[in-house]
Amino acid sequence: MKYDFIIIGSGIIGLTLAFKLKKKNSNSKILILEKEKDSVQHGSGRNSGVIHSGIYYNPGSLRATLGIKGGIELKEYIKSKKLWIDECGKLLIPTSENSFHNTENLFQRGIDNGVVVKKLNGQEIKNLEPNINTKFNIGLLIPFTSVADPKEVSKSLLFDLQQMGVDIFYNEQVTKIEEEGKIIFTRLKKYSCEHSFNCSGLQSDIIAKSAGLEFRYSFLPFKGKYWKITDPNFKLKHLVYPIPDLQYPFLGLHSSHKRDGTFYIGPSSTPVFGREHYHWNDKLKFTEAVSLALSFALKILKNENKLRSLAIQEAKLLTKHGFIHEMKKLINNISSTNIKPSLEKIGIRSQIFDPLSKTLVNDFVIINQKYSTHVLNAISPAWTASFAFADHLIDLAKI
Ligand SMILES: Cc1cc2nc3c(=O)[nH]c(=O)nc-3n(C[C@H](O)[C@H](O)[C@H](O)COP(=O)(O)OP(=O)(O)OC[C@H]3O[C@@H](n4cnc5c(N)ncnc54)[C@H](O)[C@@H]3O)c2cc1C
Repeated sequence: MKYDFIIIGSGIIGLTLAFKLKKKNSNSKILILEKEKDSVQHGSGRNSGVIHSGIYYNPGSLRATLGIKGGIELKEYIKSKKLWIDECGKLLIPTSENSFHNTENLFQRGIDNGVVVKKLNGQEIKNLEPNINTKFNIGLLIPFTSVADPKEVSKSLLFDLQQMGVDIFYNEQVTKIEEEGKIIFTRLKKYSCEHSFNCSGLQSDIIAKSAGLEFRYSFLPFKGKYWKITDPNFKLKHLVYPIPDLQYPFLGLHSSHKRDGTFYIGPSSTPVFGREHYHWNDKLKFTEAVSLALSFALKILKNENKLRSLAIQEAKLLTKHGFIHEMKKLINNISSTNIKPSLEKIGIRSQIFDPLSKTLVNDFVIINQKYSTHVLNAISPAWTASFAFADHLIDLAKI
């Protein structure tokens, strides 16, 4: 069968895109090709589940515009489907002199982005969360920020897509794209369509290159590990985050929680030498590992985008002692006897690096061609942004 649209990848971007395409034209024939056995094996099933407000991002950037619009729409979807959501709000706390000096910048960025954000003094923070470290006597409160269950959202979208008549083929790994996007090859089959969308997350650059696309970016994945809090009495009413260094696309170690009351702290931002190398015993592809190791090593040696400083900072978090030391800057009632590494909650960011500016790319990157659209750098907050992200892809593809 010839399809109108083929979507590669059934992460949150692929699912919301199919949903929006069908809403726009219910007669369109849509196929999603997914290499895994389900839709939540990578970023969309491994994230913190935080619906971000949009405070962090450069005004006018895609992360800001799509993040803010998408966050509102994601909440509406979750509520309309009666899925779990905790509209707990977020506290942002400075954890160092540098972070303290960034507080005002972040507050201003929030105002510029139209985010509701309130400055609090130490006592006001203590009234909300008694166990927060208020050394700098200031913090920001963002009431919009919420936490939901990413796997539940994907499951609900999959149910909707089934009702809408979207085909999803699992265990179908796309190997290359031909005829400017109209022919898609998997290991054993060939599919055709009017327009294809490459939403393959950690593999997007490889798929784009298989279509003959040339771009200057290189792939630079960072692993995010979480620690689980084992103390059953540990509780935070809000999400608690540090005021981050805005030059990096990472938000710093923060709290998150699930509906069963389990609390996590993470994610780290550790260089990793395999795109899907979540656990030490996962297979590494030799050529990929060597090329990523070299790429990281060169950037760290040259301290491009201050990656050496980031690597040193991250190395300290690899030990329990270093991790607790860092966390005490944020939360008082945490101790090394009450945490253990979380094996089930590890994610890898599909981060790209720009050799021209020598920086980690800080915004979503979309390459639109006549018959194909490629999503690169779908980093956080792409989960929050997904519904608006899908509209944006449809607009770019002029559908
Ligand atoms: C540790 C961590 C924490 C995060 N926390 C948050 C958060 O709290 N809030 C937020 O908004 N964002 C967060 N993010 C970001 C968010 O998870 C991602 O931006 C989002 O999930 C990206 O979705 P995606 O659909 O692009 O990618 P993915 O979810 O990775 O989906 C891509 C899909 O493509 C499939 N695929 C790959 N190659 C092929 C192929 N060749 N053929 C067929 N299928 C293929 C994959 O199997 C996968 O299912 C976090 C990310 C990480 C890593």
